[in-house]
Amino acid sequence: MLIKGIPASPGIAIGTVMLFDSEEILVPRRPITEEQIPHEILRFEEALIQTRHQILAIQHRLADEMGQEHAEIFNAHLLVLEDQSLREEILTGLKGQRLNVEAIFNDVVVRHLRAFARTEDEYLRDRTADIEDVRKRVLRNLLGRQPAPLSQMQEPVVVVAHDLAPSETALMHKQHVLALVMDIGGRTGHTAIMAKSLEIPAVVGTQSATKRIKKGDRVVVDGVRGEVVVDPDAATIQRYEVEQRRLQEINRKLLQLKSLPAQTLDGRRVILSANIELPDEIPSVIAHGAEGIGLYRTEFFYLNRADLPSEEVQFQAYKSVAERMKPHSVIVRTVDLGGDKFLSHLNLPSEMNPFMGWRAIRFSLARPDIFRIQLRAILRASAFGNLKLMFPMISGVDELRRAREILQEVKVELLRERHPFSTDMEVGAMIEVPSAALTCDLLADQVKFFSIGTNDLIQYALAVDRVNEKIAYLYEPTHPAVIRLIKQIIDAGHAAGIWVGMCGEMAGEPALALLLLGLGLDEFSTSPGQLPIIKKVIRTVEHRAAQAIAQQALTLHTGKEVEEFLAAHLRQLVPELAE
Ligand code: PEP
Ligand code: MG
Repeated sequence: MLIKGIPASPGIAIGTVMLFDSEEILVPRRPITEEQIPHEILRFEEALIQTRHQILAIQHRLADEMGQEHAEIFNAHLLVLEDQSLREEILTGLKGQRLNVEAIFNDVVVRHLRAFARTEDEYLRDRTADIEDVRKRVLRNLLGRQPAPLSQMQEPVVVVAHDLAPSETALMHKQHVLALVMDIGGRTGHTAIMAKSLEIPAVVGTQSATKRIKKGDRVVVDGVRGEVVVDPDAATIQRYEVEQRRLQEINRKLLQLKSLPAQTLDGRRVILSANIELPDEIPSVIAHGAEGIGLYRTEFFYLNRADLPSEEVQFQAYKSVAERMKPHSVIVRTVDLGGDKFLSHLNLPSEMNPFMGWRAIRFSLARPDIFRIQLRAILRASAFGNLKLMFPMISGVDELRRAREILQEVKVELLRERHPFSTDMEVGAMIEVPSAALTCDLLADQVKFFSIGTNDLIQYALAVDRVNEKIAYLYEPTHPAVIRLIKQIIDAGHAAGIWVGMCGEMAGEPALALLLLGLGLDEFSTSPGQLPIIKKVIRTVEHRAAQAIAQQALTLHTGKEVEEFLAAHLRQLVPELAE
């Protein structure tokens, strides 16, 4: 059986399926006799001990892989497990109501959760996510249901899920997860981007994978074509193994370009840098020959934790990234929460259109308390390397001015406190909203660079939700509207004397690199794994030829025409990349 989806992260994997279900747990209710009470108490105590062991194991793993401060997130969960008054309420409930312990436990915890959600006390409100997590863990243990959370997987598996949050994907590990398949999602959703960063092949937007694939099935996941073969026969497996080796061989050859400059045959030099979500990705960034970090998505730092990261914790992380990348530059993007990345513990209201809602710079300007802490941490880290800063989702001059004012206030504060920082740290704006693209000339005198965020620019320009698989066919980076906007941004930046980069996924597509090079892009920033192939394209073409290609692409009428036109040129220039 062949399931088609959207290719989201390249690579081929062959393995056994684990169905990941993050659905609500059904809690059974059955009456018990008085004699059964001690047995229920024993079951409860055992479930608490088991939960405690599981949480401690997660803490150990997180401490090893991501650092102590990530492990400490789970201290709050341990406190809930040790809460004596909670135990007493459950014992009283068991005796008074004579129901199975799952039902009593669930009722008590849900009552507390409701009360916490209503309270004025911010600290208590913030604890609801921890308590909810403990509720599910204890219930799963009582019911003997293996949660197989992604952070605890032992055997390497192919994870098949209806939907996975970017924060859940961030906990995956390529030693444990061979590939990822999802029913929903698009190729530039943050779950797909995270999979790419972790070098886990992924197919998203299959619509029905969880219905058509069973736990334990053997599958082939082809992240290049966006296909999943269920229960493949020996010949199919052999064919994919050959393909897997072919891809590995191409990658090995491309990596030989690692130390060579990203320069066209006629001498136009561009910068190839990498996007990262977690500091752990630095070794891969270096191994793929990046000349810096063009986008550090700092919001992942705020996810998977029970509280907000402190200034000190952020400072240490930014400092370590700056030091490890020195002398190359690192562009730290201020936090882009909202859209498909939420902080559960902030209890933000749910929105009908989160990508068009309270997101990124809008959130930061509305929560200067959170914003200032991040700006302080970034500025302080700038003393230890070549840091630059950029603001996400700028929609016009007012927002950019306001963000820069706050930055200025924070600088004055740090000067007063005698904290060292780089006074000439470059500040840039992401151009990912059409209103910003159309007014780039007005924004240019406020910043030192633009970084084009095509993942969002495309979704806003074409009115196509980037994570909605049903309209993924309309999400076209080559749409004439998109390439005209990109040209306008690059031209406006250059007219104002500033450099223009791109950190959307479009910068990592080899055929599109020809177009972008021809349009005059100065910096390409993409997942580390895509860098060698982009370098190969750049080193194979003359800048003059790329300019002619871009000129001609601008005269075409549809996204399909542009796509086919560019693919044909790529095939001609770099035939070895064609299948
Ligand atoms: C973009 O929108 O292109 C971008 C790089 O930012 P993000 O994908 O994090 O929204
Ligand atoms: Mg964006």
